[in-house]
Amino acid sequence: MTTSDLLASLRQALPADAIILEDRAREMHSADAFNPVRGFPGDRAPWWETPPVVVLPSTTEQVAAVVKIACQYGTPVIPFGGGTGVMGGAVPPQGAIVIDLKGMSRVRSISKEDRIAWAEAGVVIRDLDLELNRHGLMVGHDPWSTPIATVGGTISTDGVGYRAAKYGSMGDQVAALEVVLPTGEIIRTKAVPKRASGPGLDRLFIGAEGVMGIITAAALRVFRLPEERRHAAFSFPTFETGFSAVSEMFALGLRPAITDLTEEEPEEEGDPPVILILTYEGYREEVSAQARRSKKIIVAHGGADIGPAKAEEYWEERHQPGERFKRDQQPLLPRERWERGWGRGGWGDYLHPPLPVAAVPAYRRQAQAICASAGVAIRQSAIWGGPELYSMVITRPAASHDLGSFREVSDRLLQLAQDMGGSMEYCHGIGLKLLHLAEREWGQNLEAARRLKQALDPYGIMNPGKLGL
Ligand SMILES: Cc1cc2nc3c(=O)[nH]c(=O)nc-3n(C[C@H](O)[C@H](O)[C@H](O)COP(=O)(O)OP(=O)(O)OC[C@H]3O[C@@H](n4cnc5c(N)ncnc54)[C@H](O)[C@@H]3O)c2cc1C
Repeated sequence: MTTSDLLASLRQALPADAIILEDRAREMHSADAFNPVRGFPGDRAPWWETPPVVVLPSTTEQVAAVVKIACQYGTPVIPFGGGTGVMGGAVPPQGAIVIDLKGMSRVRSISKEDRIAWAEAGVVIRDLDLELNRHGLMVGHDPWSTPIATVGGTISTDGVGYRAAKYGSMGDQVAALEVVLPTGEIIRTKAVPKRASGPGLDRLFIGAEGVMGIITAAALRVFRLPEERRHAAFSFPTFETGFSAVSEMFALGLRPAITDLTEEEPEEEGDPPVILILTYEGYREEVSAQARRSKKIIVAHGGADIGPAKAEEYWEERHQPGERFKRDQQPLLPRERWERGWGRGGWGDYLHPPLPVAAVPAYRRQAQAICASAGVAIRQSAIWGGPELYSMVITRPAASHDLGSFREVSDRLLQLAQDMGGSMEYCHGIGLKLLHLAEREWGQNLEAARRLKQALDPYGIMNPGKLGL
């Protein structure tokens, strides 16, 4: 098989403008937003393989046709959404066809009564939200990357956003999926609120990083716009007291949409180091009751009300990192981002290990000990969206500090989470960054997962090598 045979087959299946061969456009698809800022070792970016062809299908049938051609030629296919993944999940191996789903950008239907919206995989989360707003509805998933990330990409990473405490992760929004399997067949599950007629297939594709098939559309559970939204902020003398308060609030069933407990070095003198940001939203009585009861618990745990200003500012500024990425980084080639210093030098790492709630305090103590003994600073610790969702920003002692030993510290922290009954990541997926820990993460379930992958993808073409499968 030659590239020209492959192109000839693709030309039979797709309109001419859906086949992208131009150099810059292909190189744009050589990487997502993964870079050494995430602690990847080395001073080069060895993963940049410009794909020989990028396709931009606009229908599910076209996606299926491309996948069938890939099976015929044994060519890897990589689904590509907004390209904002930070772990390298959408980075293509050599010779791959990259399927950019942004050509599938229609909101197919919105049912106000069912609170279900069918959206194609390439719809950007913000665009979907704006469309829903016109119907008095909204999306529950609200990540920093809202202005760029797509429906298909966010489901495939099972991302977590600001309002996850109330609405859950992106995977939790999924009511049904339309998927092109790695053999080119199309499946479509039913968006019924509850079934007891066999296990749901949707779960196979949520958080699967495109390894099990290509999501072409999703029925998402959507929510009525809240009657009221109220912001509040509290300071705590220690992270531990703040954690106990959040833990008690969640045990009782309180769910402020935004729940962010962060300990970091104060930006300005006098800033308290531990702050809890809460945003309550929903129907009026619910908001009042949540606010009243939360405050009571917080005060009982040593927290102090510092007024809503910090939480209001947090709300207003929450998408700024995504806006900045869209404006400054996204127009650049991955290579140009790298050359201009985006993440260059591996200054640190951002870790998101989910843990059993009861294990968080002990994990935190042991993580602090590991970092202290290696001279690595913990610049920030946080709980985002629930007491079990712990995160840390760690920094290298100096730019000269050996990246390899820094990464070892990062790995030890993730392995500690795995060993304490947790997992190595709750937000971004495995991608390339955490691939070396994937088998450890799967543990005794690895073989069952590999058999599932083999059954669905007998030609091994669908984002091969990812997830450790
Ligand atoms: C500035 C910034 C802020 C961010 N903030 C957050 C945040 O708050 N919360 C969060 O969870 N993440 C965040 N991220 C990470 C990123 O936005 C998420 O991982 C997002 O879910 C990826 O969506 P995407 O459309 O860009 O997917 P991509 O990066 O294109 O792809 C991600 C993975 O999904 C696969 N994939 C893509 N589309 C499909 C499809 N249709 N079918 C099957 N597989 C597919 C890809 O192959 C890849 O493995 C942030 C990233 C940046 C750069």
